[in-house]
Amino acid sequence: MNILVINCGSSSLKFQLIDSDSEKVIGKGLCDRIGIEGSGITFTPEGKDKIKKEYPMPDHEAAIKYVIEALTDKDTGVVKSLEEIGAVGHRIVHGGEKFNKATLINEEVIKAIEECNDLAPLHNPANLIGVRACQKLMPETPMVAVFDTAFHQTMPKEAYLYGLPYSYYEKYKIRRYGFHGTSHDFVSHEAASMMGKDYDDCKIIVCHLGNGASVSAVKNGKCVDTSMGLTPLEGLIMGTRSGDLDPAILEFLCDKENMNIHEMLNVLNKKSGVFGLSEDFSSDFRDLEDGYNKGQENCIRAVECFCYRVVKYIGAYAAAMNGVDCIAFTAGIGENTAFVREIIMNYLGYLGIEVDKVNNKTRGESILISTKDSKVKVYSIPTNEELAIARQTLELI
Ligand code: ADP
Repeated sequence: MNILVINCGSSSLKFQLIDSDSEKVIGKGLCDRIGIEGSGITFTPEGKDKIKKEYPMPDHEAAIKYVIEALTDKDTGVVKSLEEIGAVGHRIVHGGEKFNKATLINEEVIKAIEECNDLAPLHNPANLIGVRACQKLMPETPMVAVFDTAFHQTMPKEAYLYGLPYSYYEKYKIRRYGFHGTSHDFVSHEAASMMGKDYDDCKIIVCHLGNGASVSAVKNGKCVDTSMGLTPLEGLIMGTRSGDLDPAILEFLCDKENMNIHEMLNVLNKKSGVFGLSEDFSSDFRDLEDGYNKGQENCIRAVECFCYRVVKYIGAYAAAMNGVDCIAFTAGIGENTAFVREIIMNYLGYLGIEVDKVNNKTRGESILISTKDSKVKVYSIPTNEELAIARQTLELI
């Protein structure tokens, strides 16, 4: 069966059509600048060149129309008609406490997702617009919601509660939720299978290091902690996000720089992280690596702070699980940036970890990057959130 995976943002829409039997991507693409001038679609049919077209896309429904057109085009399409698309899997960012697994979408589910909008005001409404647009154009096709937060719903309360008056949790559900759940789920399963261990009987730390970055602790098949919180701002130092801070810094800086809280949060989300630490040099690790190798102090500083924060979370999660069997690196940096993995691993001698310098040079493949004798194994494992969404969609329908 062909499953269409949709990841809908406020002005963009990424899509992949996956054949669930072979798990191959038979077509993928992106609509961007939806609702803005200059909108268009890029589409890559399997084994063929990318096709780029500009169309006016006043809304997401128009975008989905072009997605369907691209997929079914008689010359460059990959299916004959919509009937060859068996189901749609939608990435939904926030499922709050309501959703601990992927769910078949109906009106009741849409309402429950809407109730989580407060927790992800930039993402959930956009995700739902994608759902509505697909429903309108493919009314007979089953749709599934796959949540970024669901995998982390197994965290115990000592991991998800903040040290705040408990009434805020009761009234507003202020707690830690965690994100990138689809990736942590997928990669932790891959890691267990690479170790040759039963998923339900091992301790895994997954470091999802991309522009947004998070670490999770998976013990005996369940997520027991993760570094992102109520929002994806908590935890690691990221591309442009600050990660953990002393909350008193907010008031201090608002006063000193004459900013309001919204301006302050904009700084924490968009101007901080390795970008801010490198004095606005770059949030991209390819640039930072270049600067690091040239001995640029701003890049060395940013990279060292980034790595140190990852190391601290690994230590915390090894303690939380009373041990760890393996650590898996994934996402843009985790899969590709050998020097960052090496810096992090060099801290982990206390876990009996030694870097395999040859394997650690590889990019984008599932491979053991610690030596075979290392007590705790370290892997680099490409994540595949779209495939994970397609698998969960298939399972449900
Ligand atoms: P997100 O999905 O959160 O936007 P990604 O997982 O794509 O982020 O990761 C982006 C980061 O990964 C960037 O810092 C980039 O430098 C790094 N990265 C991506 N691809 C490569 C590559 N081929 N080589 C080195 N670094 C890469």
